[in-house]
Amino acid sequence: MAGNITFTMIKPTAVKANHTGSILHMINEAGFEIRGMKLIKLCKEQAEEFYAVHKGKPFFEKLVNFMCSGPIVAAILEKENAVEDYRTLIGSTNPETAAEGTIRKLYATNMTENAVHGSDSDENANIEADFFFSKTERF
Ligand code: ATP
Ligand code: MG
Repeated sequence: MAGNITFTMIKPTAVKANHTGSILHMINEAGFEIRGMKLIKLCKEQAEEFYAVHKGKPFFEKLVNFMCSGPIVAAILEKENAVEDYRTLIGSTNPETAAEGTIRKLYATNMTENAVHGSDSDENANIEADFFFSKTERF
């Protein structure tokens, strides 16, 4: 299975705005299968750990505060070439420069509140999936 999964979060603003259904529809339409999914609110420590690679950067505190401001939808997605294809589906980090028709172009508010997360490598996809899901919660 390694190499065929990616991990995503639908971020707090997008969940609150009821974009979850539309985003999941786009994910399924693009050929991804959902292998695990939950609605969960991160505590500050979890958000700091998840985004530890960005610790010390000017946007870190804002990012962490945002990510624990409300529930997120966490999911494991499976598809051939999952990591790269999902990054294409979500569009670039900054919604202003994201391609037309991408999830971020359609549903992001701004650079921080950018609707969704997508893993950036196979290795991180597995680390992130393990961070959120136990063996009995993924299929
Ligand atoms: P994510 O990891 O959430 O999928 P990404 O991989 O596209 O996003 P990263 O570089 O990993 O982008 O940054 C993680 C998050 O930190 C981004 O989603 C964004 O919300 C925030 N971020 C990154 N760079 C900046 C920046 N220059 N200014 C403000 N926020 C930023
Ligand atoms: Mg990233």
